[in-house]
Amino acid sequence: MGDFAVYETMIPLLDEARRGKNGVGAFNIHALEVVPVMIQAAAELKTPVILQVSVSTAKYIGFGLLASVVREIAEQKEIKVALHLDHSRELEDIQAALDGGFSSVMIDGSQLSLEENIRVTCRAVDMARAAGASIEAELGIVGRGKVVTPYPYTDPEEARIFVEKTGVDALAIAIGTHHGQYKDKTAISLDALERIHRAVDIPLVLHGGTGVREEELGRLIDLGMYKLNFGTELNVAWVRAAQEVFGSAELDDSLRDLMIRCNLAMKGVIQNKIRLVSRLS
Ligand SMILES: [Zn+2]
Repeated sequence: MGDFAVYETMIPLLDEARRGKNGVGAFNIHALEVVPVMIQAAAELKTPVILQVSVSTAKYIGFGLLASVVREIAEQKEIKVALHLDHSRELEDIQAALDGGFSSVMIDGSQLSLEENIRVTCRAVDMARAAGASIEAELGIVGRGKVVTPYPYTDPEEARIFVEKTGVDALAIAIGTHHGQYKDKTAISLDALERIHRAVDIPLVLHGGTGVREEELGRLIDLGMYKLNFGTELNVAWVRAAQEVFGSAELDDSLRDLMIRCNLAMKGVIQNKIRLVSRLS
């Protein structure tokens, strides 16, 4: 895998955040075109950043191409950047990401029984370690889709056993958040988080960060959530800008300039979240 001085695994970023009592923002790449502005957003604030991507987007772009682009820009900007595969359920997709040069992966066995989740996660941990990459797993279900479905919170004792048996670097848990929620805000359980935080010693991961009230983010970090994922809000900002920018464009306007305006809307969202999780303001 080579030199991770700038292009890093999640481990040093999360360690540094934990020591500084901060979080690290993890932002979803929705298209290759937005990668430069995502890294620029963090570089201007001089903070490390995790870029992550769904399996389907990674396949659309190409694992190796995406890793090359992220590494190249990280080296130019001289900030620590990790490239993480989000929510992979298949070991072959994890291997494709590692072969392509990703520095971090997530195995999502949250739909499986505890025993099966541990089994598949252990295999993914071995693959990640062999490649020098970091690994996140999930225990408890963070819902997805247009309807917000309540799921049980992650059980603290199961979390303790899971972390002990798998040796993962970070754990995604269910405390009431929901993927794709952007029209309203969710009711998270700080009690559930606190119990899990007491049971396990590794960084916890917030999924569905778009649906969390911004004033609650600091408390989540205090309770061990050092990786905070934001995906939907970035997409919403880009598409909202695009509706306006493209809606009023002439047919021969520069596509590049039109897209730059949409990219800047996304950059604003990223910088706002970075300031909040890094407690810059
Ligand atoms: Zn997620």
